[in-house]
Amino acid sequence: MNLAKPNPTLVEVLTTEVAEKRTDPLTGHRSLFALRSFEPGETIHEFSAKATHTTPNFLTVQVGENKHIELFPEYLECINHSCNPNCLFDTTRMELVALAHIEPGDEFVFFYPSAEWDMDQPFQCHCGSLHCLGMIGGARYLARETASRYRFTDFIQSRLRR
Ligand SMILES: [Zn+2]
Repeated sequence: MNLAKPNPTLVEVLTTEVAEKRTDPLTGHRSLFALRSFEPGETIHEFSAKATHTTPNFLTVQVGENKHIELFPEYLECINHSCNPNCLFDTTRMELVALAHIEPGDEFVFFYPSAEWDMDQPFQCHCGSLHCLGMIGGARYLARETASRYRFTDFIQSRLRR
């Protein structure tokens, strides 16, 4: 037994077939990491609605006008935002889809406005990506030029075209 090793109980870990959920017990911050590689366009996991709400909250994904779902399996709600996303919640196919090549150990990250028109809790992003947008409030606040660089759900895409 090597006592110099970091104590694994410092981070709570839940492992599924494709992902590992890590919870920081001090901050409660949750994140989801890939356990295998994915190619762009590949389905990472199917999802369904555990519950449906008429208003958004910080855990829901928007699937339509006044229609916001809680995700099942629940660990998918641990996927954090990045302005440089590697996956998308495709709410037409109800599949989490890879947007980029993902390596085992990479954190799954999605662009919150890709599936949210007007977020319940806007926040200041510190994702550290080259083109970090700063304030994230939902697709309705994106400049046309910015939006053109991103993939969105069919619902959000239709709202952007209005
Ligand atoms: Zn950012």
